Amino acid sequence: MTTIVQLIMLLTTTLHAQCTVGTNQPPPFVANDGTPIAWARNASVTWGITCGSPCIPISQDLQIGIGTGFTNWSAAASTNNSGVQFTQGSAGDPNATYPWISITMVPDSTITPNAGFTQPVWTQSPPYTIGYAIVAVSDAINVRHYMAFVTGHEIGHTMALQNCTSCGDNTTVMASAPNAPVFNAAADGLEGPSSCDNQQVNQTAYP
Ligand SMILES: [Zn+2]
Repeated sequence: MTTIVQLIMLLTTTLHAQCTVGTNQPPPFVANDGTPIAWARNASVTWGITCGSPCIPISQDLQIGIGTGFTNWSAAASTNNSGVQFTQGSAGDPNATYPWISITMVPDSTITPNAGFTQPVWTQSPPYTIGYAIVAVSDAINVRHYMAFVTGHEIGHTMALQNCTSCGDNTTVMASAPNAPVFNAAADGLEGPSSCDNQQVNQTAYP
């Protein structure tokens, strides 16, 4: 009997894994000297959609989902102490003023399937703040909510957050396989930072 109860508890723990800073929320993405790599405190980051090569147009519906990811991170600026605001503009333009972040839709086969990829580019000397970041999202994404999740997740990578493979899909926007939200789900997963994410961002990148 005890064995069965323990097994049920183990399964419950696995299926409903929480996100806990200092436990299963991974350590921050850092520079060689250990400095978390993120936008400068109070940065005003311009974001925009950039046409890739080949150019894959992003539907108006999915653009709304992308905007939601940015809006939710901006709304968390005081909660996580970053002060970082994301404003839509002409990001990706070589002449755009730093800092900026661009979103480009790419063929699903060129990145981790059904997901996104972020390449942050930061200063090569302290304080290692990000100058710009290039985000690629899969053209297999066709649900607004899921696009908001992927965008919110990729922005998280510019706030020094890393993938959480053991966190429940609704406990952190950094949820990743095997606990990633169901692909193209209409509701599963978050569209912005959770309290766990904001706590981690505050303690690491913006103490
Ligand atoms: Zn990720």
